[in-house]
Amino acid sequence: MQAGRWLPFLFTLIAAALIAVWGTDTPAPLPHDAPADQFSAGRAMADVRAIAARPHPTGSAANDAVRAHLVRRLKALGFDVQVHAGPLPPRPAERLAKWGGDPAAGFASLIAVRRAAARDAATDQRAVAIMAHIDSVWASPGAADDAAGVAAALEIARAIPQASQRRDLVLLLTDAEELGLVGARAFFGDHGPAHPLAARVGLLINLEARGGGGRAMMFETGPKNGETVQLLARQVRDPAAQSLAVAIYERLPNDTDFTPAKNRGVQGMNFAFIGDAWAYHSPLSTPDRLNQGSLQHLGAQALDVTRAALALERLPGPAPDLIFGDALGLGIIAYPVWAGWVLLGAASLLILLAARRRLGQWTLPGASAGAVEALLAALLAGGLLWLFNQASGNAGGEYYDRLAALPRLEVQALLLLLAVLVAAAMMPRQPLDRWLGAATLTWVLALAIQIWLPGAGPLFAWPLLLAAAGLGWAGRRRTTAQLDGSDLLLAAPGAVIGLALLGGLGHFAMLGVGPMLPMVLAPLLVPVLALLAPLLPGDRPSRARLAVAALLLAALAIALWVRLDPVAPSVPPYAGTEKN
Ligand SMILES: [Zn+2]
Repeated sequence: MQAGRWLPFLFTLIAAALIAVWGTDTPAPLPHDAPADQFSAGRAMADVRAIAARPHPTGSAANDAVRAHLVRRLKALGFDVQVHAGPLPPRPAERLAKWGGDPAAGFASLIAVRRAAARDAATDQRAVAIMAHIDSVWASPGAADDAAGVAAALEIARAIPQASQRRDLVLLLTDAEELGLVGARAFFGDHGPAHPLAARVGLLINLEARGGGGRAMMFETGPKNGETVQLLARQVRDPAAQSLAVAIYERLPNDTDFTPAKNRGVQGMNFAFIGDAWAYHSPLSTPDRLNQGSLQHLGAQALDVTRAALALERLPGPAPDLIFGDALGLGIIAYPVWAGWVLLGAASLLILLAARRRLGQWTLPGASAGAVEALLAALLAGGLLWLFNQASGNAGGEYYDRLAALPRLEVQALLLLLAVLVAAAMMPRQPLDRWLGAATLTWVLALAIQIWLPGAGPLFAWPLLLAAAGLGWAGRRRTTAQLDGSDLLLAAPGAVIGLALLGGLGHFAMLGVGPMLPMVLAPLLVPVLALLAPLLPGDRPSRARLAVAALLLAALAIALWVRLDPVAPSVPPYAGTEKN
């Protein structure tokens, strides 16, 4: 038992945390005088300020003023603009009435088309469309949701010269999204006949937000996304995209304007940023508080894809779904589902190699106990996350207050995971027993995911491969000697990269469902243990116990802090915005 190797352990954690923070940070917004072919958040902010000067829900005078501004801007950019209007269906009308609006107001989307100037005989008539919604909720200026999306669509259209367009570019600026996707549903034919243009949309890019900051994630695609994801992977320079998000979002009840298109089999990508969740549907969602780096990231990715798609002779068609994920923003790793099996096979071979060549150093009961410990650690973490989430009292029980407390709840979750990790490190166990046990359990989880939810593969399969590579290296020599520094040559950097990847995914999971379900982070402890097992500091129970106690106390302090938040609704009660 190596006692007290805290330094490499702490160094690994800190290095991984720094890389994860760097990898989840927004890019710097480009200023208004950035080169003309680039997306500039500085330029787009002028439209954000015009759109989000005040709340502009469907049917309000402010909504009309926004539409008038957009018609002027679209015409100046060379678009033919038409208004696509109609009455509100009963439930959206009811919702608008609750806001103090006029349920008879109806919706009015803008459908803008800029003709291809470089079409050739080989290119079909299908168009590339960018969609975002004009309206806000009643109590929020909606700088992020969705003034940012609308402004980004305009800035993208500006950055692409019409002369280079091989296909028509369509801007679908929908109305009454917040009342139930009314404009988008009407366009794609959920409420009667579809708009004539709907059948021509070959690739749809939707721009959204559920918060005022963070990187913009491509989190939803049309069905059979293989070719679409390849377009994204080839073209986007600073991507954030996860098939994990696609797989999870499919199982959530949430909808955006993208839903009616997806239901009709349209190929496309749905981008949104969800950080600074306190700004969601809040009076605080003002242009000044919008993270311009988020706008930059949203727009730059969508511009890369739009520009490329407009120049394609053939748009992406349906092709088998891919498993994919961005590697800390450096690029997208995408592969077919069958390759997930190859990855699992490779990990098995590496683990078996280590097990066979370092036979004298581990035992079957010892490795089994290591696997059971990793399982118990995840279960304990799940219990603690649930318990402390209860203790933090739902911040008055309001979902929006819960979102406002999210940064503190995320720190709380991290402290709890760390406490369980240190507690696991206290267990007296041979390092190779622990390593093989945790890696094998990770392999089992990766196998289950590959069978039932392949899109979530990167969550377990990627850390598994890194841990297995570390094990494989340790198995390069046949010896009964203890693991030493030379055996950890791959394990240590593998742990840093693996933890950073898991940190980034955990952060997005926390932003997505963390306020209600922080327990989803618990299973991540299994791959974390597989990565960290050879680096765990070992036997120093008294110090470790003290660390666990301190971490739990800090988590408890956060629970009380959140619980004591004044129950001031961040969203005012239903009240009239100015009416038509
Ligand atoms: Zn929205």
